[in-house]
Amino acid sequence: MKFTCDICVIGGGAIGKASALALAQAGLEVTLLAPDAATPAQPDHWDLRVYALNQSAHALLSSLKVWDAMDPSRIAPVDAMAIHGDDAGLGGHLGFDAYGARVGALAWIVEDQNLNQALDSALRFATGVKRIASTASQLHIDVDQATVTLGNGDTITCSLIVGADGANSWVRGQADTNIDYRSYDQSAVVANFECEVPHHGTASQWFLGSEGIVALLPLPGNRVSLVWSAPEHLASQLMNEPAESLCQRLGHLNGMPLGQLAMLPPAKPRAFPLRLIRAQSPVANRIALVGDAAHVVHPMAGHGMNLGFADIAALVAALKRRDHAADCGDARSLGRYARQRKEEVLLMQLATDGLHRLFSTDLTPVRHLRNVGMSLVDKLPFLKRRLMSHAFGRAASLPTGELP
Ligand SMILES: Cc1cc2nc3c(=O)[nH]c(=O)nc-3n(C[C@H](O)[C@H](O)[C@H](O)COP(=O)(O)OP(=O)(O)OC[C@H]3O[C@@H](n4cnc5c(N)ncnc54)[C@H](O)[C@@H]3O)c2cc1C
Repeated sequence: MKFTCDICVIGGGAIGKASALALAQAGLEVTLLAPDAATPAQPDHWDLRVYALNQSAHALLSSLKVWDAMDPSRIAPVDAMAIHGDDAGLGGHLGFDAYGARVGALAWIVEDQNLNQALDSALRFATGVKRIASTASQLHIDVDQATVTLGNGDTITCSLIVGADGANSWVRGQADTNIDYRSYDQSAVVANFECEVPHHGTASQWFLGSEGIVALLPLPGNRVSLVWSAPEHLASQLMNEPAESLCQRLGHLNGMPLGQLAMLPPAKPRAFPLRLIRAQSPVANRIALVGDAAHVVHPMAGHGMNLGFADIAALVAALKRRDHAADCGDARSLGRYARQRKEEVLLMQLATDGLHRLFSTDLTPVRHLRNVGMSLVDKLPFLKRRLMSHAFGRAASLPTGELP
């Protein structure tokens, strides 16, 4: 079969689904190529994949009518954040709170399944989106159109391909775009816990020098979600030791406020290898990359997904500004999108990469510098506010109205 549309979005993760919804809401005919089946509900489990979504992500998902479709009883607002260095004697503490940031919440912790179920149901009711459960196997780009061939020989002809197919993006490979790549030689170990003492909506983070970074994010009720970005040898120990040992390690963290922890089912952590990936350009002829296909960042700041949602808002805005005569693969619009995203993505990657380097060594002078530095920032309200607006996002929703 031969399909035609304005835009073909390749990738069935949250960023692919949200891209399809946003572009369709802007009046374009979209085909979403998503090989994964719709997300099954697992009401008895707390998902091991959770995201801290910021104000910008909240605004985008609200304008797509996805935020209110999520189960609110499974979303935890983050009211405060406590960051601990690795030398309490030198200060080594930094705190943020929603009141200081003049927002209702710094962020919200959302489970992957809650987010994807809401996206799936929005897609079922959306006009202008056709979802095909298949993968792309070939891509041919002409002067005035792009054609994707699927595994079964069907073709989709469109003006623009949106590559939302994740860190190992097939689309990025087809675009022949060079990437900057670096492995952090770390894995993020994730697990969920019941805690003895309420977390009061506080996300806690510990920088542990050569043992990596521990984050405990609030979940609804007395539950927290762990992301431990650990060097490979430690990650494999954490993955293979009994749940009680991991709970004990967490219990020994400096200033641990949550009392005893007990691991929640499935009582087996998962690990994700950590790397930095940056496509040297997020656009090519009739191709735009969004989400992890365009950039992968260290999860210490919880920003990969947030950057992806900001990509979507920027892409829709760039297409909205194009000339009436131009189609949506127009090179000038894509150039505008690339310029718009360059600064934020680069800043986030430099910041997380720099912090990773600063905090992963046990050298005494560096240790001194980072702990004193944290306490100094903690005492400078102006600098803290600037940091917060970068870290927690500014409310940026989709431009209103249909595209030309
Ligand atoms: C431990 C950890 C914690 C994190 N915490 C946070 C956080 O708190 N906040 C935050 O903002 N971010 C966080 N992130 C980052 C976030 O998980 C990613 O940025 C986000 O999931 C990327 O979404 P995506 O849709 O771009 O890619 P993916 O989720 O990887 O989706 C890609 C999709 O493309 C599909 N696909 C692949 N190849 C093809 C093909 N050829 N054809 C069609 N489809 C294809 C795949 O099946 C998949 O469905 C974290 C990451 C990690 C590892």
